[in-house]
Amino acid sequence: MTDRNYIELTDKLAAGDELSDEELGALIECEDREAGAYLTQKAIAVREKYYGKKVFIRGLIEFSSYCRNNCFYCGIRRDNKKAERYRLSKEQILSCCETGYRLGFRTFVLQSGEDPYFADEILCGIVRGIRMRFEDCAITLSVGERDRGSYEKLFAAGADRYLLRHETADEVHYGMLHPEEMLLSRRLQCLRDLRDIGYQVGCGMMVGSPYQKTEHLIKDLKLIREFRPEMVGIGPFLPHQDTEFADQKAGSPLLTLRLLSIIRLMHPTVLLPATTALGTADPRGREKGLLAGANVVMPNLSPVDVRGKYTLYDNKICTGEEAAECIRCLSLRVSKTGYEIVTERGDPVTFGSPETP
Ligand code: SAM
Repeated sequence: MTDRNYIELTDKLAAGDELSDEELGALIECEDREAGAYLTQKAIAVREKYYGKKVFIRGLIEFSSYCRNNCFYCGIRRDNKKAERYRLSKEQILSCCETGYRLGFRTFVLQSGEDPYFADEILCGIVRGIRMRFEDCAITLSVGERDRGSYEKLFAAGADRYLLRHETADEVHYGMLHPEEMLLSRRLQCLRDLRDIGYQVGCGMMVGSPYQKTEHLIKDLKLIREFRPEMVGIGPFLPHQDTEFADQKAGSPLLTLRLLSIIRLMHPTVLLPATTALGTADPRGREKGLLAGANVVMPNLSPVDVRGKYTLYDNKICTGEEAAECIRCLSLRVSKTGYEIVTERGDPVTFGSPETP
């Protein structure tokens, strides 16, 4: 394919036209620098049309490292006997929110492994506690697969957003990343249930996960195009030394950036984080992510003494600083990109009614 073709494909995507599988594959694999720069430039223009220079912050609270699942890629998988397990109490979680609120956070993301200890009653109690104390904040959950009734109870308790990466939209590939008892169909059903209940929903995938091919990424992009989630979380796969993928190659930060730009063009109003995994794979990964079309960052609000225990992959960044230090560092990094962290809830803008920058 010539450079001209890539530029035409980018223009087609930016115009809201659907690309064929072949065209999506060509964009994903495009290594031409000039064509890449054009894709980025278009993605930035779209991001700024809807969100201006704003970068939303989400305070991440990793409240339990216990997990009943055994995903082959994940450092907190059940069979990793070396993983240090912890869970935060309701009081500790509320205290993280308190600190976050004082620092300007208006969204809290509660993430954990699938820890059976946090049954509906306990988790609903925590969500209610946050909702009562921080009325103006959005509460995002990222606690994995639960039944529809559980999602309904958590929504009624005050949760408004839910992140559940689909991981890969290809059934066979899903089976290579997960044990037999985990099913893509169940994960997708969860996403549909969450959407039906009224949550703002986020899906997403790891980039460069073991055995991933371009055809899988094409399916991921098509799922995003069809499902149109409010949020999409993507980051490079990074190996963890105590998993069976310890010797697998890490995902490419460059490909992650290209995908961020493609997703921004495909789904202009989506909330798109520049993830910690991207910042781990490349020291300036989060800044580069923002300059490729991302508009969200998620600093860590977890207590420092547990940070190092929520180790999904090796060499995870930001495990040492207090929340205040984390947000100072990130604000500085963001301001160097020409963007600006804002302290608002950051709901997605409605498609078709762009905010004036
Ligand atoms: N248990 C919840 C769930 O299943 O959605 C949330 C926690 S889970 C650890 C959060 C995300 O971490 C996963 O969706 C996965 O994409 C990502 N993750 C896990 N291991 C990873 C790795 N080795 N490299 C990059 N991302 C990883």
